[in-house]
Amino acid sequence: MADEIDLANEQAERFLKQSLANRSTGPKLQPCGHCQNPNCELPFDAAGKDGEGHEIDEQGIRIDAKLFCDKTCADEYTELLRLRGRR
Ligand SMILES: [Zn+2]
Repeated sequence: MADEIDLANEQAERFLKQSLANRSTGPKLQPCGHCQNPNCELPFDAAGKDGEGHEIDEQGIRIDAKLFCDKTCADEYTELLRLRGRR
């Protein structure tokens, strides 16, 4: 489960890096404790800590590295970027 969501986050991040590389300007996506999907922006709750003391959610994903709630939000965000890039 966690792997799947990690993968979605990684894919979204890769997509964003690509689009940023293509357009020299643009906001950089940084994990900031809530969902990066502007239609969601749900704050992430820490469910515990990992072995290194980092806050993690219930799926074991580090809060300080988390960009989206789940794949749905990651997909929605990449779709928004894609539409924006088309303008
Ligand atoms: Zn979300």
